[in-house]
Amino acid sequence: MFIDGAWLDARSGRIMETRNPATGAVIATVPRGDRQDIDLAVAAARQAFDGPWSRFKPYERQVLLLRIADLFEKHWEEISRSDTTDMGMPIMRTRANRNRVIGMLRYYAGMATALHGETIENSLPGEVVSFTRKEPVGVVGAIIPWNAPTAASVWKIGPALATGCTIVLKPSEEAPLTPLLIADIMNEAGVPPGVVNIVTGTGAEAGAALAEHMGVDKIVFTGSTATGQSIVRASAGNLKRVSLELGGKSPVIVCADADLDRAVPVVAMSVFANSGQICIAGSRLFVERPIHDEFVERLAAYAKGLRVGDGIDPATEIGPLVSLRQLERVTGFLEAGTAEGATLVTGGARLTEGALAAGNFVAPTVFAGVSDDMKIAREEIFGPVISALPFDTLDEAVERANNTPYGLAAGIFTQNVTKAHQLSRKIRAGSVWVNTYHAIDPAVPFGGYKMSGYGREGGAEHLDEYLSTKGVFIKID
Ligand code: NAD
Repeated sequence: MFIDGAWLDARSGRIMETRNPATGAVIATVPRGDRQDIDLAVAAARQAFDGPWSRFKPYERQVLLLRIADLFEKHWEEISRSDTTDMGMPIMRTRANRNRVIGMLRYYAGMATALHGETIENSLPGEVVSFTRKEPVGVVGAIIPWNAPTAASVWKIGPALATGCTIVLKPSEEAPLTPLLIADIMNEAGVPPGVVNIVTGTGAEAGAALAEHMGVDKIVFTGSTATGQSIVRASAGNLKRVSLELGGKSPVIVCADADLDRAVPVVAMSVFANSGQICIAGSRLFVERPIHDEFVERLAAYAKGLRVGDGIDPATEIGPLVSLRQLERVTGFLEAGTAEGATLVTGGARLTEGALAAGNFVAPTVFAGVSDDMKIAREEIFGPVISALPFDTLDEAVERANNTPYGLAAGIFTQNVTKAHQLSRKIRAGSVWVNTYHAIDPAVPFGGYKMSGYGREGGAEHLDEYLSTKGVFIKID
C-alpha cells in the first residue's frame, strides 16, 4: 500500500490475492489493510493537508496534474494491461480509454487555476464588503468499484489535487493493482507525501473504517446502491459530506423511426461492453412494437457475432466477468429470467469451451417476452444481459422507463428531433443520450437521479464537490 509516500505492508501483516478472471490464476497478493492502516493514511493525509500542500498555489497544482497526465501517457500500455489482467476488461477497450482518462487529468489541471469565489453586494447598514472563498474540503476518502479502476481512480484523485484536498483511496478488493500503479505515478510526478494515499483491503474492513473515520471530511463513493446506503449511515458520526455514484437499470427507448443500422450496434454495446459491468448499462430495451421483432432479431445476431475471450487478445470484444462470485450472480439472473417465463433469444449461459473453461465467461444474452415486473427487468445484473420490452405509445414508454428506483442514464433512438427533445426532458436520469450511448466527457457533469446517487463527477460541478464555500464580511467604514 502507499501511505505518506512510502510502500507499506498492512500493519496486521495480512495479505489478499487477486486473480486474472480470464484464467483464474492468482496474479498478485496485496496487503489486506484494515482500520489501523486507514488511521495511518488519514493521519498522513491530514498532516499533508495542513502542511506544505496547503501552500501549493493553483498554478503549482496545475503543473503537477499536467505532469501526472504526461506520465499516464508514458505508462498507458502498462496501465491498460494492468486493468485487463486484473479485472478482465478487453485491452481494445482499456487502450481506447486513453484520451478520456488523460483528458480528465488535463481538464482538472485547467480547473486548478479557474477556482474562484464571488464578490456579492449586500444590504447591510454602513460599508461592508462581502465575498465568498472556495476552500478545499480537506481529507477526502475515496472508495471505488472494480469495473473501471483507472477511470474511477482518476475521477477521484484529479479533482482532489485540483482543489488542494488530500485523499485516501480504497480500491476494490477485486481489482487493486492499477490504483497501486497509479500510486507509483504519483511518486514519479513528485506529489508530496501524504497527498495521495492508496490503502488496499476489503469493503467490510478498510472501506467501512474509511467511511466512518472522524478524521475524514468527505467521502466520494462509486459502487452499488446498497453499499452507498451503508456509507451514508457510516458518515453520520462526524456528518462528513458524501457524494455517491451508484447503480442503475437504465432504459433504452428505440422508436420505430430510428435508423436501425446505426442503432443496433450502439444498443448492443450499451449493455455488452465490459461484459455488462458498467453502471450505465442499457439493460432495459423498450422497442416500439412495429419494429420490435426485427430489432430483437438483429440485436441477437450482433450479440452472437461478438468475440468473447481473454481480454489480453487485442481481437477480444467481450472479456470475462470479474470474479466467480459475479459469475454466479449473473448466471442466477439468467436462470431467473427463464424461470419467470422470458424467452431466451441468444446466450443465456456460461461459456466453457476450450480455454474459456478456466475463466468467468458468459455469452452476451438477449431476452424477449420480458415483463416489467420480472427480476431481470427490475434489478441491476451487472452482466451482459439485455431484456427487450415492446411499447405502443411514447407516454407509455416514458412511464415504464421511469418506473425504477434508479436514474443513472438512458438512451433514445429516433430521427425525429421533437421526440428526441420530448423524451430527453421526461426521462428521470442524470445522463440522456440520443442516437448514441456511453458519451462521457470531462467537462460534462455525470451522476444519478433517485437511488443512483447524488453529487456529480465531471464538469465544474465536480470541483464544487471538493470545495467548501465560506462567506466573508469586512466592515470598512
Ligand atoms: P460494491 O458496492 O460492492 O463495492 C464498491 C466499493 O465499496 C469496493 O471498494 C468495496 O470494497 C467497498 N465497500 C463494500 N462494502 C463497504 C462498506 N460497508 N463500507 C465501505 N466500503 C465498502 O460495488 P462493486 O460490486 O465493486 O461495483 C459494482 C457496483 O458499482 C454496481 O452497482 C455499479 O452500478 C456501481 N457503479 C456505479 C458507477 C457510477 O458512476 N454510478 C460506476 C461504476 C460502478
